[in-house]
Amino acid sequence: MPEVIIIGSGPAGYTAAIYAARAGYTPVVIAGSVTAGGALINTTEVENFPGFPEGVLGPDLMERMAAQATKFGAQVEFDDATEVELAGPVKRVRTGNGLEFTAPALVIATGSAAKGLGLAAEQRLGGRGVSYCATCDGFFFRGKDIMVVGGGDSAMEEAIFLTKFASKVTVVHRRSELRASRIMAERALAHPGIEFVFNAVISDIHGDTAVTGVTLTDTVTGQTSHRETAAVFVAIGHTPRSTLFADQVELDPAGYIVVHGNPAPGAEGTAYTTATSQPGVFACGDVVDHIYRQAITAAASGARAAIDAHNYLTELAAGGGLAAATV
Ligand code: NAP
Repeated sequence: MPEVIIIGSGPAGYTAAIYAARAGYTPVVIAGSVTAGGALINTTEVENFPGFPEGVLGPDLMERMAAQATKFGAQVEFDDATEVELAGPVKRVRTGNGLEFTAPALVIATGSAAKGLGLAAEQRLGGRGVSYCATCDGFFFRGKDIMVVGGGDSAMEEAIFLTKFASKVTVVHRRSELRASRIMAERALAHPGIEFVFNAVISDIHGDTAVTGVTLTDTVTGQTSHRETAAVFVAIGHTPRSTLFADQVELDPAGYIVVHGNPAPGAEGTAYTTATSQPGVFACGDVVDHIYRQAITAAASGARAAIDAHNYLTELAAGGGLAAATV
């Protein structure tokens, strides 16, 4: 029986597995049946993950993380967690393949999904000009005209960031008012490298192997127009993958799992920074983080979750509770 179950196999999940396995446990990673490897599986070149000065392909990076976890003894199940029981000393996970795993500690690292526009072209051109992460892909569009969809803080932040590379950034927003905070909106509106198209949605994206342009539909008049662009950055929000845990750990209003966060000065050693509202259940990566959302920050929080789980198991053993939780 494993001492730790990890649900999710992005940078957070695999890093938690590496740390838990190196701490002497035999963690089980419920990696997902079709989504194993997390969001990086759908990216091409990753150039900002430390240690890879030449860059690394997203799928290769995840394969390396998986190999590192299994090398130290983690068991990876390419299966989906479909049911969880998190209350009480024994955490129980049932899977799509009909397996059941139990352990005294559990790490949730299920990530979040970038919301899409719902266009068929997003499938065809994902990673070929359609992107959901400016930090990841902006660099590839140096000197090009690019578009950003959305009117929130993410869209403003991405648009401003992309002006470093693009010859021009056009923000397309479906209403006439931005949702973004005033300071972000003002900064973007005043930026000479950013043009705004209000009251418009992208109703189609053109190109076979790379984005060449879009069809814009005016949300007031219904009129359509064509615009050339080399890339479309979709920044219309993220959905944390927390539904499975919704009634068992505390979520914030946007659905992100609430964790303790950093302990107050002097409280180190008593607070688990990745602890959820359920004792023995820890959460890390994008399912708790709506700000940073980077592979490296997710990996870092995975390490913290494994260390927190280790400390929890140590305390449980010291109190005599571990034996009861592992039968
Ligand atoms: P958000 O605030 O929910 O904004 C999403 C934007 O996308 C809205 O303008 C929305 O339009 C638009 N949208 C949604 N679905 C759409 C669709 N199908 N087609 C076209 N447009 C669509 O999401 P977010 O910008 O990712 O921000 C999420 C949270 O993180 C917010 O609390 C934000 O303040 C925070 N955040 C903060 C910072 C920062 O402070 N630096 C940076 C990023 C994010 P409508 O306005 O018409 O609904």
